Amino acid sequence: MIVSLSLLLHWELSVNFAGMGKREVYLDNAATTRMDPAVLDAMHQCMQQIHGNPSSIHASGQQAAVVLEGARRSMARRLGVSPAELVFTSGGTEANNAILWGCCYGQKVRHIITSPLEHPAVLKPLELISARLGVKVHFVRLIQDGHPDLDHLRKILTDHPGALVSLMHANNETGNLLPAKTVSRLCKAHGALFHSDMVQTIGKFVMDIPQQGIDFAAGSAHKFHGPKGAGFMYVRAGCFVEPFISGGGQERNQRAGTENLYGIVGMAKALDIACEKGEEVKQHVAALKSACVILLQERLPEIRFNGDAHKHSLFSILNLSLPAVVDPEMVLPALGMAGVAVSSGSACASGSNRGSHVLRAMAVDENAPSLRISFSKYNTPDEVHYFVDALCNLISGGK
Ligand code: PLP
Repeated sequence: MIVSLSLLLHWELSVNFAGMGKREVYLDNAATTRMDPAVLDAMHQCMQQIHGNPSSIHASGQQAAVVLEGARRSMARRLGVSPAELVFTSGGTEANNAILWGCCYGQKVRHIITSPLEHPAVLKPLELISARLGVKVHFVRLIQDGHPDLDHLRKILTDHPGALVSLMHANNETGNLLPAKTVSRLCKAHGALFHSDMVQTIGKFVMDIPQQGIDFAAGSAHKFHGPKGAGFMYVRAGCFVEPFISGGGQERNQRAGTENLYGIVGMAKALDIACEKGEEVKQHVAALKSACVILLQERLPEIRFNGDAHKHSLFSILNLSLPAVVDPEMVLPALGMAGVAVSSGSACASGSNRGSHVLRAMAVDENAPSLRISFSKYNTPDEVHYFVDALCNLISGGK
């Protein structure tokens, strides 16, 4: 009851503040990003000019098909893959589901190796696949800072050659990065297939997927300044996944349903921008993250960073635990009242808040409220200062 009241209050205040033009500092870019105006333009133009269904054989349909295939070719070139290896989906959740279910039906996979830190878009389908298809799911142990223990992975692979390994490229809560090439070599040595949820990394780096040695990947446009509701799966040539959605011959019979043409055009444009401006954006965002770390260390030395924040970590995500003097339920509403949007990374399992399965698996202190801060190209150093000031006020008020 207390939670829902405080959330309601938070919502009302946020709406009022938005109406009053109060400052908004958006630091939740791992959840979703603001669309790039050039993406909006590309989508708007397509909406105005293209009316046909890409599957229709008349001129309007063929015009739409040309645009669709142009977007596929452009994305394939950016990702170093062949156009036939890309299947458009509604986003990362669908792509992960389609790959995992499709591998278990089509490839007759009987063992899947994953980690307890995966996104629910992987963990939940694996739970269902295990229950419905009898596939055995093995969880790799974690080492310090929450990286998967590769010796343990080797051991499970030795016991179950030919398994499917599903490990995310960057963790969406801590930003921890997977050494994908090392994992891929281990997989190849044991005849295993390698799926990686790349939702947090596609569009963050100039990415050649085959160079990473990945057989299946999932990506999502709204994480890199593209539209919500558009994503893709990469299925390496020679690997087969049984279609997850049936009822039409679209996407070379791999995903039925009329394609989200405008979303796909926006996604291709967003990936173009991400690749062209990649290094510049990376430097800007990485500088914001390190400025935030330095400021927090100076002003709130009692804060703890979760995961491998200083080394093998995505340049855009920071996860931290606050001193236990602050009521975990109050952190997001209080920051929200100051106009700051961040995510809770709480490990707290009290009441209806089940907390973060990631932090729990990493044995992070459950009594300390945690936060995920995630930056984008639209953030500024001034916003980082504003956030740190708001957090300092919150903590000094809690003492
Ligand atoms: N995988 C990861 C790592 C994510 O962070 C997310 C979204 O937060 C998803 C999958 C789901 O992607 P989508 O929102 O496109 O369904």
